[in-house]
Amino acid sequence: MNKKFECLRCALCCKNTNFSNVNLNQEIIGEKLAKKGLYLGAKNSEIGILLFNDEFKKLRRFADENGIKFHPVPLFFVIDKLSENAFIFCWTLGHKVCPFLEKNDDHICLVEDFKPLVCKAFPIIKNVRGTKIRYLPSGKCPGVLKVENQEIDFTSFYENELEAAKTVDKKMQEIFSRFSRLKDKKLIEPVSHIKPNNAIRFLKDCIVSKKICFIEEINIS
Ligand code: SF4
Ligand code: SF4
Repeated sequence: MNKKFECLRCALCCKNTNFSNVNLNQEIIGEKLAKKGLYLGAKNSEIGILLFNDEFKKLRRFADENGIKFHPVPLFFVIDKLSENAFIFCWTLGHKVCPFLEKNDDHICLVEDFKPLVCKAFPIIKNVRGTKIRYLPSGKCPGVLKVENQEIDFTSFYENELEAAKTVDKKMQEIFSRFSRLKDKKLIEPVSHIKPNNAIRFLKDCIVSKKICFIEEINIS
């Protein structure tokens, strides 16, 4: 039987949630995205574990039911001129140390049964250079370092993690294609060309006044 990656349960990636950083930079891409009416809601320092809206909802419910402080930040969002709502594409965890890591030395994930896809993918991270996309094991994971000089079949060794990493990409593509269809059908009218900081201010107001929606919830008839 082929060897598989074994997580050492050291919880380093749960205590440093920027390990699985989606590698976005507000200053570099913020203005570019704004031209398309798309905004980043998180500062560079806040960007860590990516949460899809369905994951966000499960974690939100679990946190509320168990009195866990959980302050995720919208990652991508658009401002819709028609409804004056902010539509959220996905979130970032917003905590350096994951609030769902049990606070003792057992390193238990309290949401193991429904942990985010990005957690399932780690230590595999996506490396983008120009148009070249590669999935690589993170050198920050001791489980990866342990097998560094061993001969392994990469695809088989990281089979489960690669599958999760590719599902993350697939879900992301689905969200962006939904955005395009919504725009084409004029079901939303994104506000574009405003300063990213002003967009973030608008987003915060929308959160306070509960004028946020999840992009999946807009009907495409
Ligand atoms: S850093 Fe690697 S070995 Fe440690 S918990 Fe995360 S995936 Fe497992
Ligand atoms: S959700 Fe679980 S696996 Fe993911 S960072 Fe938090 S404690 Fe770790």
